[in-house]
Amino acid sequence: MTFFIDTHCHLDAAEFGADRAAMRAAARAAGVTHCVIPAVARFNWNAVRGLAHAWGDSYALGIHPMCTPDATDADIEALGALLHACGEDSHLVAVGEIGLDYFVPGLDGPHQERLLRAQLRLARRLDLPVLLHVRKSCDRVLKALRELPVAGGIAHAFNGSPQQAQAFIALGFKLGFGGAVTFERALHLRRLAAELPLEALVLETDAPDIPPQWLYQSQERRQAGAEQGRNSPAELPRIAQAVAGLRGMAMDELAQAAWRNACAALPRLPGLLRGDRIAAQG
Ligand SMILES: [Zn+2]
Repeated sequence: MTFFIDTHCHLDAAEFGADRAAMRAAARAAGVTHCVIPAVARFNWNAVRGLAHAWGDSYALGIHPMCTPDATDADIEALGALLHACGEDSHLVAVGEIGLDYFVPGLDGPHQERLLRAQLRLARRLDLPVLLHVRKSCDRVLKALRELPVAGGIAHAFNGSPQQAQAFIALGFKLGFGGAVTFERALHLRRLAAELPLEALVLETDAPDIPPQWLYQSQERRQAGAEQGRNSPAELPRIAQAVAGLRGMAMDELAQAAWRNACAALPRLPGLLRGDRIAAQG
């Protein structure tokens, strides 16, 4: 059996409210032995930590750029205190999800940037890697990282240029690929997934968001009553198959490389995973 790490999945999301444990068990049965669960704002910090502990998964703590409108300096202070309190928790693997979003209209740019920098400072203080959200914002996030270098991490749902990819790699980051790469029309992203150095690539679902092509229904079809399939970590092996196909390599080989890369990006993972693999193989 091939084993996978879903390096980015929001398993605390309301979409999983009805069958959360069954969803996680189904992913495990599909070979997804480990999930990294990023936080989005103060309201879910305890939830992601609780789930990671309950399931042997890992978590990150942070404030997502899309949640910055409601976030203040008091939230940064609370985040700093919680990171400090959880500093020795082996399940805490990163600060995240943090970053910038210049795609969603109405977000306050300077406010987002201030909160990103405050969180990069926290990551530096604790020597933790970061999980980055870089939608239409690669250059601005790179600028912040150059000013406040951190211990690497993952640029998740990466969809930048090859030059931006190289810049993240040079700063010690891996790039996360998920459902978006399964769409045949995503030519630019598919080429990047095919040509990127193998050591730079990690796999993710971003569940319940970013459904892969086989779960996706267009807006027209949804209006006509078709139901959007719910994305979950159980989709990761099929996403890996798609990436392996693009690279012309065996799925096993790709999965092993992605596993190694995730461990390199998040140095606390290997300690947690040893137990997982033994349990999965037993
Ligand atoms: Zn996310």
